[in-house]
Amino acid sequence: SGPLDKEQMQGLRGVREFLKVRTSYDVLPLSFRLVVLDNNLLIKKSLNILIQNGIVSAPLWDSQNSAFAGLLTSTDFINVIQYYCQFPDEIAHIDQFRLSSLRDIERAIGVLPLETVSVHPMRPLYEACRRMLKTRARRIPLVDRDDETGREMVVSVITQYRILKFIAVNNEQYTMLLKKPVRELGLGTYKDLATATMGSSVLDVIHLMVKYNISAVPIIDRDNKVLNLFEAVDVIPCIKGGAYDELSATVGEALSRRAEEFGGIYTCNEDDRLDAIFDTIRKSRVHRLIVVDDDNRLKGIISLSDILKYVLLYGEEDDDIRGN
Ligand code: ADP
Repeated sequence: SGPLDKEQMQGLRGVREFLKVRTSYDVLPLSFRLVVLDNNLLIKKSLNILIQNGIVSAPLWDSQNSAFAGLLTSTDFINVIQYYCQFPDEIAHIDQFRLSSLRDIERAIGVLPLETVSVHPMRPLYEACRRMLKTRARRIPLVDRDDETGREMVVSVITQYRILKFIAVNNEQYTMLLKKPVRELGLGTYKDLATATMGSSVLDVIHLMVKYNISAVPIIDRDNKVLNLFEAVDVIPCIKGGAYDELSATVGEALSRRAEEFGGIYTCNEDDRLDAIFDTIRKSRVHRLIVVDDDNRLKGIISLSDILKYVLLYGEEDDDIRGN
């Protein structure tokens, strides 16, 4: 192994040590607001609340038992859509579903409930990261216990996005050592990519996300050039107000309704180095990178979980979560 390998390992080790001495609590901003939804709320209303607050997920609270009841995410809305596809005659009922019915919906469509892992905010951040990779959770609630009442309290939610941002902002001295290009690291997915076109229906794209268990599908033209990206969170405005029949609309129509504050999509080249990717994460709201060639043709996709996995596990002996 050459000097580049040595430097790369030095960078990775630096970041890993950092994650071991910081806690999930450290990732939280000094002041933040947390929207928690009552489990008894109508699903339809929860959509409006998410949209009004500009958020895509929220912890659920079971007020009957005073307990944390899981996280509401775009996966839940995708489940409701699948339910609608399987039982189209039930549309009148779907309108009356409450958040507490989400588990019944999972059962009815035959998907396994997502494991609701949570971590204590004062545990090492490294642990939260490992747990995210193991369960494939993209966000984890931080749950503490109230000393006086003994009840569970949801302090906040940390996401892969926040963690990578936190790493990028605080470890420039280490991430600058990560000089190996994406191509050499094999970072991301390059084979059997799920893609769609502007003319595909929103429903087709949702089915792709379910089938591949992914949270975004690149939208390409007939020359394989990247035009856009349809993300799981883009589903939320599509079904606002219970407009399930509008899911037959095209991706093009749905994307034109994206909120003003949409951050845009990020691309990179296979020759880009990991340090450059960390620079992008430091500066922008990146949720994934689309890998393109010089003509903007789709080559692959790098998800935040791909990056987190590499940073945490590459070269570790117990890389059992890597699946290879
Ligand atoms: P994350 O877990 O960060 O939310 P995804 O769920 O989108 O990211 O990605 C999970 C895995 O699937 C990653 O290894 C990623 O490279 C791969 N992947 C992401 N999008 C696609 C796609 N459109 N086609 C094929 N594989 C994909």
